[in-house]
Amino acid sequence: MSIITRFAPSPTGFLHIGGLRTALFNYLYARHNNGKFILRIEDTDSERSEERFSDLIIKAFRWVDLKFDDGPYFQSQRGEIYSKYIDRLIEEGKAYKCCCSRERLKKLKESQTANGIKPHYDGFCRGTNNEAAENFTIRFKLPKTDENIEFDDLIHGKILINLSEIDDFIIVRSNGIPMYNFACVVDDALMGVTDIIRGDDHLSNTSKQILLCRALGFDIPRYAHVPMILGADKKRFSKRHGAISVNVYKEEGYLPDALLNYLVRLGFSYNDQEIFSMEEMIRYFDIKRLGKSASVFNPSKLLWLNAVYIKNRVPSILAEEVLPFISALLGTTVKIDEKFVEMVKTVQQRAKTLKEMADQMRFYFETPSDYEEKGVKKYCSSIDLLNKIMLLMKDVQWNESELKKIAQNVMDEFQLKMLKIAQPIRIALTGKTVSPGIYEMLLILGKEESLKRMERFIKFLNAKV
Ligand code: GLU
Repeated sequence: MSIITRFAPSPTGFLHIGGLRTALFNYLYARHNNGKFILRIEDTDSERSEERFSDLIIKAFRWVDLKFDDGPYFQSQRGEIYSKYIDRLIEEGKAYKCCCSRERLKKLKESQTANGIKPHYDGFCRGTNNEAAENFTIRFKLPKTDENIEFDDLIHGKILINLSEIDDFIIVRSNGIPMYNFACVVDDALMGVTDIIRGDDHLSNTSKQILLCRALGFDIPRYAHVPMILGADKKRFSKRHGAISVNVYKEEGYLPDALLNYLVRLGFSYNDQEIFSMEEMIRYFDIKRLGKSASVFNPSKLLWLNAVYIKNRVPSILAEEVLPFISALLGTTVKIDEKFVEMVKTVQQRAKTLKEMADQMRFYFETPSDYEEKGVKKYCSSIDLLNKIMLLMKDVQWNESELKKIAQNVMDEFQLKMLKIAQPIRIALTGKTVSPGIYEMLLILGKEESLKRMERFIKFLNAKV
């Protein structure tokens, strides 16, 4: 039987890191087994679901390039399908209408809590015939049996759930819309889902879903509940620990494959390997390689990994990726040409994010408007030196070996080390003391622009004294 997995987010917010990891595991499992991966948007909760979040989730999938084979399905469009199965449960006496008012349920909860009992529905409407009722919810009629629910979780092993922990839970809200557990079970069955990998916060739903599967005569899928992602303080990963929305990582200049590589390691391991291509992730992925204990989200490791991916990227591809960042920074659309790719190469080895790259490339497009004060003080006391360099540069063929000769001449004449020559040039060209190598910059900026910047800087220094 082929493997079918799914990712089933509720569009009540942006796709978050934990969700993307779940999606990735499902995706890898399907791909590894030549199976199918489905995207299903669980938007039945009309109060909390928003279309813009569905759009953003789908966009995020496009960004990370996790292609789904089927979907996206929207549960909000599948009402008729659910009705059919609800009717069936009612006809077969496996579900019933409940007319208990909010007040009654509230009082019930209060008195149970006061008596030290875990709040649960007492089955008040279970035996009554509420056929003609207008305002009702539909509850699942819990089978009366002493049997426990048992299933083999692919990560946690055997899990036993005592039926006494479950009550006649609601499967359809009073507005006629099915609840998550019900819609999920029907969809998983109709979509042929064989394996469900999801966060272990859903463990408590699993028993209800198994009961529903049994009542509806559906095959029970295999379950793998992955431990939550934690923050550094071992509490559940949340905004307090760093950005949790996937789109923030996109905006901050993370590469999608670096992010996926980082996420796969939050739970999955293959020897000590840290860097995985997508092909390797697919090849090695196995639910047996998912750990039982929670992983801690480490933003600096993600940053490190991102830098590794940037370093290893083909420059022309990286150029396309950095383009929106530099365009946004400059407020104009930049064109990709050979020169742009050369610029990219000069910062590729030193930047950790695309945003940083854009920042470090900015000077190529804008003449510096100010100069780092500390650097000026430390390296630029001799205007003669800069004048000399400029003079020599004016008369030279603009290539690396000629420019190197000039540097050598000046080093000899002024008895200086390279740094003392490079830094003033660097500050003149970029305004900063940290930048790509000076020859690379001089060549990319070209003779005219480089000399213009040198001249401008000398003027600035002259004006200061
Ligand atoms: N809509 C549920 C959620 O976003 C799906 C849970 C599941 O995978 O069954 O948490």
